[in-house]
Order: sequence, then C-alpha cells, then structure tokens
Amino acid sequence: MNEDVHARAKHLILADHVEHIAQHEREWLDQHLETCTDCDRLADATQKALRSLRAVSVPLPPSLASRAQLRVYLRIEELRTHRRGSWALWISCGLSWGFGAASTPYVWRGFQWAGQYIGVPNVVWQMGFGLWWALPALVAAGILLVEKLGEGSSETQ
Ligand SMILES: [Zn+2]
Repeated sequence: MNEDVHARAKHLILADHVEHIAQHEREWLDQHLETCTDCDRLADATQKALRSLRAVSVPLPPSLASRAQLRVYLRIEELRTHRRGSWALWISCGLSWGFGAASTPYVWRGFQWAGQYIGVPNVVWQMGFGLWWALPALVAAGILLVEKLGEGSSETQ
C-alpha cells in the first residue's frame, strides 16, 4: 500500500468526527481499517481521545448563571424604567408648553397688573414674566442633566 492510501485514511478518520463522511468514503475507510493496523490504531486512539474529551465537562457554578441572568434582568428593567421616565418627562414638557402658550396672555396681564400695583418699572415685571416662562425648561434641563450624570456613575460600577 502506498502512502496516499494511509493519508486518505487518516484524513477520513479525522473528518468523520468533524463533518461526517459520505457513505462510499465510510465503506472505503472500514475496508482499509480491517487491513491496516496502523490506521486502525489511529482510528481507535482518536475515538478514545474524543470520548474522554466529551466526558470531561466543565462544571459552572450555578450561581454564575443566575448572577448573569440577574444582571441582564436588572439592565432590562433599568432601560424600561428609564424609557418610561423619559416619556413622562416629554409628555409633561409638552403639556406644560401647551398650557404655558394658552395662558400666556393672562399671565402677561397678571404680571403687568402686579408690576403696576407694586410700582416696579416695566422691565422688572417683564423679566419676572420671562423667568416664569423659562423656569419649567430650566427644571426639565436640570432633571435631564441629573439623569445623565446618574447613568454615567452607574455604568462605571
Ligand atoms: Zn493505513
């Protein structure tokens, strides 16, 4: 027998465990293994090595799996809560803007009346009116800023 035959047998022995071989290749290999002790020994050794490899299972501590699951669960909950919080913030911003726009003429007159009643210059009650308009936006910006800072610190843990 020439070397190519044994090389083919060796290739088929290994291929059989990885990708499975065609029927005619299996028949050829079985025939070869019956006549060639070297290749038969190789097939046997490969079989044993793989069997013992499969028998060795790496036991994972059960707490590792549950800890990983818990982390994923907490992260999902965190994202869900955050998204809900963002929606609430945007909705309240929209409502407050709408309410602010609708009430502007009345508030303007109210500030004007109060300014004249107290006797302050026009620029003072007009600034008060501007502040009244800007305050909700400033509060919302502050909340967003605090949330962003909170995210930053929780991700570094
Ligand atoms: Zn052989």
